Amino acid sequence: MYITINKAECLKTTPNDDTPLGFGTIFTDHMFNMDYSIEKGWHNPRIDPYGPISMDPSTMVLHYGQSIFEGLKAYRTDNGKIQLFRPKNNLKRLNGSAKRLCIPEIDEDFALEALVKLLSLDKDWIPGAHGTSLYIRPTIIAMDPYVGLRSSHTYRFFIILSPVGAYYPEGFNPVKIWVSKDKVRAVRGGVGEAKTAGNYAASLYATDQAQKQGYTQVLWLDGIEQKYVEEVGSMNIFFVIDDEIITPMLNGSILSGITRDSVISLAKHWGMKISEKRVGIDEVFDAHNSGKLQEVFGSGTAAVISPVGMIKYNDREITIGDGNAGQISQKLFNTLTDIQYGKAEDPMNWILPLNI
Ligand SMILES: *Cc1c(COP(=O)(O)O)cnc(C)c1O
Repeated sequence: MYITINKAECLKTTPNDDTPLGFGTIFTDHMFNMDYSIEKGWHNPRIDPYGPISMDPSTMVLHYGQSIFEGLKAYRTDNGKIQLFRPKNNLKRLNGSAKRLCIPEIDEDFALEALVKLLSLDKDWIPGAHGTSLYIRPTIIAMDPYVGLRSSHTYRFFIILSPVGAYYPEGFNPVKIWVSKDKVRAVRGGVGEAKTAGNYAASLYATDQAQKQGYTQVLWLDGIEQKYVEEVGSMNIFFVIDDEIITPMLNGSILSGITRDSVISLAKHWGMKISEKRVGIDEVFDAHNSGKLQEVFGSGTAAVISPVGMIKYNDREITIGDGNAGQISQKLFNTLTDIQYGKAEDPMNWILPLNI
């Protein structure tokens, strides 16, 4: 398919090294758009000026949440080259989410080609200061103007780009997390393993509760017994217990993070003991009591690795280690970011360098 390019007439000023970027508030000049209809399939791929999507108030995505997305980053290396980290995994996962939400799948190779074209047009927006990157948000939404429940017959696939600042401008600081007892994020048989809008709406209430009590993120337990650890905020979670790295096994309600998979691969590559299994919250507290809980950290594209310093569950609050980031968390963070920014070898072939 040929990608039409409709350039923006008037370009915005790109941020410079001193512009505070934050996360997800500044967007580039262009976006990729493509439509789906039953008759034509995915069609009319185009790059348009970045701008609002006009839709009927009855548009299905607004009412029934048939919406999926991805999140990945483009990195600028010290010598000015642009590279992506495992982008094919994101597009594959987007199709996994599509399947679960009855959204027609996209051609992954074509979507990557479209993304690269969009990046080449807006490459001046990829920041170069330490720890910054260009966040990429591919999204698919249901577009039928219809107030009635069924899956939509028309869809819009779009990709937008946002320059983002360093996640840890003040150093690699641990977060305090709060275990939600009465609210869950996802359940067995639900849509937890899909990156779909409703999961995030479902997480807001408990996150608010956690933040009101001075915690940054919620630690989510399973939706059935509320005993087993699933995720932290919108990140996967890892524990280091007695020199073994442990992460909850994928069970359908946990999102299969690409950073999670990268952590597992690196740990194996380093010859560390790592396992994916069910982790009870009681086991975590028992391990702490017996002095065996060494580290806890989250993993995700935005923060890469997020060390956890404290966990509050019922009336108990524990401090992990000495409350500072642990050695394994730090090593994983350094290695992953060094690979992403082209400062270290890429032993697993995760990097896609772009010729743009
Ligand atoms: C996106 C996401 C993650 C992390 O996935 P990455 O591919 O590592 O960015 C973890 N949990 C949830 C719920 C997510 O939405």
